[in-house]
Amino acid sequence: MYLKSIEMQGFKSFANKTILQFHDGITGVVGPNGSGKSNVGDAVRWVLGEQSAKQLRGGNMQDVIFSGTETRKPLGYASVAITLDNSDHKLNVDFEEVTVTRRLYRSGESEYLMNGASCRLKDINELFYDTGIGKEGYSIIGQGQIDKILSGKPEERRELFDEAAGIVKFKRRKAVTEKKLAEEQQNLVRVNDILSELT
Ligand code: ATP
Repeated sequence: MYLKSIEMQGFKSFANKTILQFHDGITGVVGPNGSGKSNVGDAVRWVLGEQSAKQLRGGNMQDVIFSGTETRKPLGYASVAITLDNSDHKLNVDFEEVTVTRRLYRSGESEYLMNGASCRLKDINELFYDTGIGKEGYSIIGQGQIDKILSGKPEERRELFDEAAGIVKFKRRKAVTEKKLAEEQQNLVRVNDILSELT
């Protein structure tokens, strides 16, 4: 699996539709200060479901929408799509190629799409569990992140190893099941209370 392309429109400094295509090997993005290099990384974080505007270097989420320049009006929405080659089926779907799209309108309305079909953020998170690609994955290493990992708590560091070992999805499922069990336990207590009132 590898990143084949990123398509951005109305996202931060990328007002026009911009498509970046990637091939085997290493790709370097170069350009003068302020030309939008970091915005490319932000676009990938954002499409993978980043919910924190701060992580995207903004004050609120609408800040990712192109805000205009002296010569150009602001735009009404931001859209980012990434396409991954899935010929090795590392992503647990039948498609050879997977395109994930996120759009946000100034009204606050937003949508996620997977290969063109509308989906929930939860579906995208589940698609990328244990691949290292998700928002919490290690495929995007931001500035200062290595320091944070090295000086972080052992439990936080452990999360990275869990992701690499491929056990995150089992831990999430266990947490959901434990929550359901606790709820059922409460229901049983209530049923027993009612029964003892009736007898
Ligand atoms: P450096 O080399 O200094 O780190 P960079 O190439 O990584 O710079 P970025 O930080 O990606 O640059 O881009 C910053 C540019 O993006 C600024 O010119 C800023 O005005 C522009 N920008 C950020 N958000 C928006 C937005 N919503 N609308 C229009 N332009 C934006």
